[in-house]
Amino acid sequence: MNKFEDNLIRFMDAGFPIIYIDTFEESKAVKYVQSAACGRVIMEWSVTGFCDYATNSVCPDWSLADTLRFLISDANSCHRRVLVLTDIHSYLSDPVVTALLKLLAQKIVKGLDDFNIVMVSPVVVIPPELEKFMSILSMDYLSQPEIKQVVNDFCDEQEIDRLSPQFLDELSMALKGLTEFEICNMLAMALTDDGEITSSDMDLIIEQKQQLIRKSGILEMIPVKEDLSSIGGLENLKNWLQRKGKIFKNVAKAEKFGVDIPKGVLIAGMPGCGKSLNAKAAAKLFNVPLLRMDMGRLMGKYVGESEANMRKAIKLAEAISPCVLWIDELEKAFAGVGGNSGASDVTTRLFGTFLTWLQEKESLAFVVATANDIEKMPPELMRKGRFDEIFYVGLPNKNEREKIFEIHIKKRRPNDFKKIDISALASKTDGYSGADIEGVVKESIEDTYANEKTELTTQAINEAIKNTHSLKEIMKDKLEKMDTLYKERKYKNASV
Ligand code: ATP
Repeated sequence: MNKFEDNLIRFMDAGFPIIYIDTFEESKAVKYVQSAACGRVIMEWSVTGFCDYATNSVCPDWSLADTLRFLISDANSCHRRVLVLTDIHSYLSDPVVTALLKLLAQKIVKGLDDFNIVMVSPVVVIPPELEKFMSILSMDYLSQPEIKQVVNDFCDEQEIDRLSPQFLDELSMALKGLTEFEICNMLAMALTDDGEITSSDMDLIIEQKQQLIRKSGILEMIPVKEDLSSIGGLENLKNWLQRKGKIFKNVAKAEKFGVDIPKGVLIAGMPGCGKSLNAKAAAKLFNVPLLRMDMGRLMGKYVGESEANMRKAIKLAEAISPCVLWIDELEKAFAGVGGNSGASDVTTRLFGTFLTWLQEKESLAFVVATANDIEKMPPELMRKGRFDEIFYVGLPNKNEREKIFEIHIKKRRPNDFKKIDISALASKTDGYSGADIEGVVKESIEDTYANEKTELTTQAINEAIKNTHSLKEIMKDKLEKMDTLYKERKYKNASV
């Protein structure tokens, strides 16, 4: 029995009035409820109406309100029963439904015999009037051995050979974070082209998984091309990541030696100077998927919805782990913590959930949080122990600018690179960010092409530099202030 089943039985036996099962796997959840009911009869309401399995009576025309009114008026019909409500979340905005649910929940609390309401839905919605009657249970994601079992069962059902242990390992890893239903759909799709499931189906599976994760609305799986060689400069940060990568790739060995599991890193600093690039390169270096958490999408409108979404995102990241969990623009997510508006209450609770997780995290979900402006950030987040390290990324120095020019020129015009005087270009671009330099290179290549020249020259790049305002020019005061702040707080400089 898994932890979820165990909790469900306990909640049902203890007479919790409303148990809300948060899951995408409705039929599996209903099966769990049936077995946890221990002989009690299930009644079900869904969009197709009401069904009482004790008498097999079906009332297709009954609305949810009709069903609830009936149960409230007839205590006998609730005796030793479980009422299962599927796809309930959109009905919970109806004040009549919530009032009737509250009435029924109150009756259960007052001693309605052996009766629970179980809601099953992929979205957690808690109307304030039902908050104290509701207990939420999230169904765990499948573990890797469970995924292997699903794959083996699928092969047996389809009467095809089971996969080799090595490929099964690789495939089950790629399928982490998906439901049983999604896994079977993907396997069926992989099977349709040539009647086999082979490593040639991996790209399709990963692409489908990216879409499914995006659809869940809380995390995004980002395809990564960039590696450490795509980053000019920032040697301290790159070395640090390399060291963590060494631990990450063989955690068991490192732990045996007494090394702690890496938690994550906060990279703060100037815009366009390679913070996101480092998040991507970390995923490539660790050879794990990159998941981006979109804080804007996490914020919900119901009580507890934002925290529930945050927990869901964390759970999904842990299910997919090992992975890099990239939290972009962290300061926007947690600005307003500790304030006294309603919105800041939500942010404060959200922040608490995140902080506790970060502190206690034991999974291999390595957090890379990036931030432009640490001034607005709650100081608790900056304390040692939350992140393994906090790095500050400043504007690139001359050496780094040379490397950035080299990377972006070689990427687009490799044959022209030898003749270009990157030292002269770097001298002329003091105060330019990495993104500014990339912009200069792109513009000069476009000009060269538009002017029907065959070769990119130092002169053409110089022209583009003249037409570009550096970040330092545009944000002078802000940059100076940030620079002082980072130095005062003694964050590690990402550059040597
Ligand atoms: P923001 O805070 O605005 O999101 P950021 O610091 O995350 O900025 P990135 O997205 O990493 O910036 O960089 C923007 C682009 O600038 C990158 O795609 C990359 O092409 C280029 N760039 C920035 N810094 C570097 C660098 N150190 N080396 C190579 N390219 C760089």
